[in-house]
Amino acid sequence: MNQPAKKLYIETMGCQMNVLDSELVAGQLRHAGYETAQDIAEADVVLVNTCSVRGHAEDKALSRLGQFKKPKHQNKDLVVGVMGCMAERDPDGIIAKMPHVDLICGPGELHKIPAMIDEIVDSRQRSIALASSLSRKSTLLERATQYDSVEALDLARDPDPDENVLQAYVRVQRGCDKFCTFCVVPFTRGPERSRPPQQIVDEVKMLVDRGAREITLLGQTVNSYLHQEDDLPVSFGELLARVDAVPGLERLRFVTSYPGDWTTDVFEAMRDLPTVCEYLHLPVQSGSDAVLKRMRRQYTVAQFDELVHQAREIVPGITLATDLIVGFCGETDAEYNETVALVERSNFKNIFCFKYSERPATVAEKRLPDDVSDEIKRHRNNDLLAVQQRISVDHNQAMIGQEFEVLVTGYSKSALKAQEAEQSRGEETGWRRSDQLVGRTRGDQIVVFNGKPEQIGELMPIKVTGATALTLFGESALSTNSVKSPSLPVIG
Ligand code: SF4
Repeated sequence: MNQPAKKLYIETMGCQMNVLDSELVAGQLRHAGYETAQDIAEADVVLVNTCSVRGHAEDKALSRLGQFKKPKHQNKDLVVGVMGCMAERDPDGIIAKMPHVDLICGPGELHKIPAMIDEIVDSRQRSIALASSLSRKSTLLERATQYDSVEALDLARDPDPDENVLQAYVRVQRGCDKFCTFCVVPFTRGPERSRPPQQIVDEVKMLVDRGAREITLLGQTVNSYLHQEDDLPVSFGELLARVDAVPGLERLRFVTSYPGDWTTDVFEAMRDLPTVCEYLHLPVQSGSDAVLKRMRRQYTVAQFDELVHQAREIVPGITLATDLIVGFCGETDAEYNETVALVERSNFKNIFCFKYSERPATVAEKRLPDDVSDEIKRHRNNDLLAVQQRISVDHNQAMIGQEFEVLVTGYSKSALKAQEAEQSRGEETGWRRSDQLVGRTRGDQIVVFNGKPEQIGELMPIKVTGATALTLFGESALSTNSVKSPSLPVIG
């Protein structure tokens, strides 16, 4: 008699890199015979993919792992694992606080997870795989060698045939060499390494063959991509051109860019290559030169302003977003006000704003006092978000009346809720709130409109009829079926 398939439950926290890593690990385990569990109650293996960028993210991961104590107690065969940046950064802390964890695997060792699980099941001993606790003093060769084995994970990618791949991430680069003083990424993900361009192009072709219409290239500083091919350098602009040429690809995006390494040819690629979307996420972190210097960001505010200017000069209709940290070590009121001024003049579509959170082993933790009070950090965070809220509303309302190409990605959140309610009431006919769809413009704006299920996965012309700070509302330019805004409480 056949054994029932083992089941995997995987939870992902943090950035797009983690989303991709989780997909790749799940793919490897699917090949090893695992099925996906919808619930922890039916799982044989539970994995949490963690983030270390802020203390809050690590607290959240620990709290989640704490919830697996009881299931582990009830079922000794359950394998509980931690993967990702927190596993690499603090394995001893995880074991001390969560002794029921069986598996700890850093982001550079994820290809080992299937073998680690087998080992745990056989030996009932904990298994740990880390690239090592590398310091900045390790040579680049030492660091690169210790992190390089993970390439196997991307090369073995094989999406679930039962899942519709509409949008997909493709890694082009691993790690980071910038050592911004606040950041743990160079310690958890190792040095910057760019994948060979042909591997990337082949992966994109495979995903397009499986139905992907939009690809997002991922790197910690994606525009720093550089690979030597037959002794000739392949730049990020050249890589975009090669991926753009993949037959059948409709849209190409990339995150995250580093302002200090920006080159004009990438703007030209955004303007000239048909698939490359007119959206740029360019983290500035602060509007003060003094703060940027303490963060060891390798550009000035004037250089960033010039990039924003060039973006709008060269790429018609481009939308911009940024990341900002408030309350970084020593940030004065005057320095914070310079950040407000930068946000006021940049007309971002949206910002991702965070209170500074000191991270162990970073230069800031060792050398710069975390001396801005929590109250001031909270106040600046709320204040900056309020400034951007006003700008986002103006930015989005200026789009009313215009028509945009939208990639329809699914039902809106409120439609999904309405569908559940309709099903529980047994409703089947007539116009339903559950016919409300969501999609994204090339400029990465969320658009909600009334449509038909068969339009999911399509590129559609949508005319914008209303806007809030986060969402555009529209109607199909092929019909008159509009969603009136802002009466529907929808965020994508
Ligand atoms: S560029 Fe700076 S903030 Fe970004 S990943 Fe590298 S070290 Fe971290």
